[in-house]
Amino acid sequence: MNWKEELIESVKISQQADKLLPLSAVERDTLLESLRERISQAKQQFPMMVPVGYADLIDWENPDDPLRKLLLPSEFEIDDAGSFDTSGEEFSTVVQGLQHKYDQTAVLIVTQACAGHCRYCFRRRLMSRDVLVKETIEDLQEAIAYISNHPEIDNVLLSGGDPMICHTNRLKNIFKALAAIPHIWQVRISSKLPAFLPSRFTSDPELIKVLQEYKSRFQIVIQCHYDHPRELTAASISALDALQQAGCLLTSQIALMKGVNNSIDTLSELFKKLHRYGVIPQYLFHPRPVKHATHFQFPIVEGIELVEAVRRLCNGSVKRFRYILTHEDGKLELVGVIPGNPMQLVTKWQQVRRGVDKPELMLVDIRKDTCWIDS
Ligand code: SF4
Repeated sequence: MNWKEELIESVKISQQADKLLPLSAVERDTLLESLRERISQAKQQFPMMVPVGYADLIDWENPDDPLRKLLLPSEFEIDDAGSFDTSGEEFSTVVQGLQHKYDQTAVLIVTQACAGHCRYCFRRRLMSRDVLVKETIEDLQEAIAYISNHPEIDNVLLSGGDPMICHTNRLKNIFKALAAIPHIWQVRISSKLPAFLPSRFTSDPELIKVLQEYKSRFQIVIQCHYDHPRELTAASISALDALQQAGCLLTSQIALMKGVNNSIDTLSELFKKLHRYGVIPQYLFHPRPVKHATHFQFPIVEGIELVEAVRRLCNGSVKRFRYILTHEDGKLELVGVIPGNPMQLVTKWQQVRRGVDKPELMLVDIRKDTCWIDS
């Protein structure tokens, strides 16, 4: 199957699995009616979408399977604490589909589609049925004009949804428009398709040709989103290889999630495997208080202990990732904890929103159960 056929098949299997929820025979026999209703409400709000090849990696009968937790609607999603916009994207939007939060970076939201729907997605508002707001790019020329008129912007991040799900011609048009802006030296693309739909990169020679063509104009970085070492299948490794052959630099962006990857063994294996296949460790994101997904959160103190334990198992090259809380005001690195009463969290601003003034280092009082830092 090529990647488009796989996508069509993914929609079909998602619809079938959706009818069967809750999935395992034991769950179907024992689950209370009230829980069934909650699951059904969750999947109505944010439809289930499971990529076809990825479905084979999931242990459907095991409610504790991390990949199942990643993609299956759960009763906890009915809880509506949290926010649909945890990093203040509304304040950063300067043109529909274009965000300018940090001086040097423009973010283009090129699509709201994804090959799979991660239940914790911080942009689930783009795909949910309960929030129908159009935030993707409407007028590319208007966005290009904004970037052209802002010489401080030297790199553009394509985001979504998953930009790599776009037709190759669309990506080519975006590259072409960006290539005409002299002050852009780098284009980054956030994508989970190397894990969700590896055939995107191995069954479309035209895409590889486009990447090869534009790599001489600007550096192309693929910010690969993986959640678990089981996602690094032979097909996924071939996708990473194809991207490297095309001249792209690969970096890793990992969302830390309770029940999915918050274990020392899982995370250290993931970082090492990614590094082995050429994906440079970049960011590990602390779980955000996303509305309907707060059950994936856990305390910052536990995260710090976890990261320290993972770093002890990794060599210098692997452990260089930063543990980040993506705040409305910027990217806050979570550095460590000073014991005491109250405990103090040591933080460092890695990026700060335009117009906001912050000290580089900051101490924040926290409790053992603090999961997030508000303004
Ligand atoms: S792949 Fe990324 S954008 Fe798509 S649902 Fe998952 S987290 Fe959200």
